[in-house]
Amino acid sequence: MKAIIIGAGIGGLTTAIALQQQGIDYEIFDAAPECKAVGAGIMLGGNAMTVYERLGVGKAIRQLAVFPQNIFVRNYKGKLLQHVSNAYIRDQYGQGAQMLHRATLQQLLVEEVAEEIQWGKKFTSLQQHADGVTAYFEDGTSVHGDFLIGADGIKSIVREMYVTPAQYRYSGQTCWRAIIPMTLSKEEQENAAEVWGNGNGLRASYNQIDGNRIYFWFTARMPANTPFTEEEAVTFIQRQLAPFYGNMPKVAAALRPEMLIRADLYDFKPIDTWYKGKVVLLGDAAHATTPNLGQGASQAIEDALMLSNCLAQTKSTAEAFQQYQQSRIARVQKVVGVSWQLAMITNWKGALAVALRDCMVRMVPNKVTQQQMEFLYNVKW
Ligand SMILES: Cc1cc2nc3c(=O)[nH]c(=O)nc-3n(C[C@H](O)[C@H](O)[C@H](O)COP(=O)(O)OP(=O)(O)OC[C@H]3O[C@@H](n4cnc5c(N)ncnc54)[C@H](O)[C@@H]3O)c2cc1C
Repeated sequence: MKAIIIGAGIGGLTTAIALQQQGIDYEIFDAAPECKAVGAGIMLGGNAMTVYERLGVGKAIRQLAVFPQNIFVRNYKGKLLQHVSNAYIRDQYGQGAQMLHRATLQQLLVEEVAEEIQWGKKFTSLQQHADGVTAYFEDGTSVHGDFLIGADGIKSIVREMYVTPAQYRYSGQTCWRAIIPMTLSKEEQENAAEVWGNGNGLRASYNQIDGNRIYFWFTARMPANTPFTEEEAVTFIQRQLAPFYGNMPKVAAALRPEMLIRADLYDFKPIDTWYKGKVVLLGDAAHATTPNLGQGASQAIEDALMLSNCLAQTKSTAEAFQQYQQSRIARVQKVVGVSWQLAMITNWKGALAVALRDCMVRMVPNKVTQQQMEFLYNVKW
């Protein structure tokens, strides 16, 4: 049995590693001309780390990442809104969240992939036959496999052309991310904080990701594609963060225009089918989510293990795809839904609405927080 994997992002690379662990052949292709060290930081949830432990790369990731003991949500005056004990999650469920540079993760995964990753291969179309699938690339080449995995991200061509079209939703927020050379105090490294501003999608956070770099992100409500030069963005971010408590203004002062990576935050309305014939979707291609729970990549990583397990345990791809979708869809749709709701409540504006929002978040009963943790981290594989 041979899989064709389209996309060598976190989802595609993790799928390659999971398939090879099951002894399933694959070829993996990506449109990017080469493996470039791109992106900012990433939080891998405890659930993703559990998968990586299974795949034999957990220890290597932990050695290159930073483990915050606590993750707080505070308002811009420093008032506590929510607290998640990452140490408790680790002790209770086996693994906690890890913070690292995306490029570090990508490099590590690339090294674990046994087959050569075929860069500069833009997938354009496919044909299904009785004995499998032929995928065609922009450079005129093609490849044959038994089935094809579309791990080609939120704008997936595989999904749009061969499974089902998606309805994109703009969350109303744009996000700037940056890697800043900086070493935080031990206290700040251990106690990460996401800080909510005075409405209008305003939020920011910074976390140590290795010995001398921090990952900073900032969101604000505005129409998609609002024009900003990078210099204007730095000035805008610094102005918005000036009233924030603690070191946030100092961190913002260290931003430089060339550090900024911008993304308008989209997801798409959950789709109810992830496969058609011999074509199956995985990661953002199947279920892009806004990053409010920090679970997009973590869900792609879970998909990878589940799909490879289903392929190994069933007699046909049809049965495997059906089981994979059935095992994953309700869980992922819940993540997408909660994440979307979080985006919406952080978009509220006006002093009264913000006070109400902060009060609601602060009053979330422990039982509800506990149930959320159980749902996200207590996964039986
Ligand atoms: C601002 C922001 C912050 C985030 N933070 C987090 C976080 O902290 N934790 C977390 O878990 N998630 C986070 N996410 C979500 C996470 O980035 C995604 O869910 C994850 O990257 C999805 O991985 P993927 O492999 O499915 O897709 P992608 O990473 O998009 O990879 C798709 C790959 O397919 C390739 N490709 C596309 N089209 C073609 C084609 N036609 N032919 C061949 N190749 C193709 C692309 O080049 C790319 O390499 C964040 C997202 C954003 C926007």
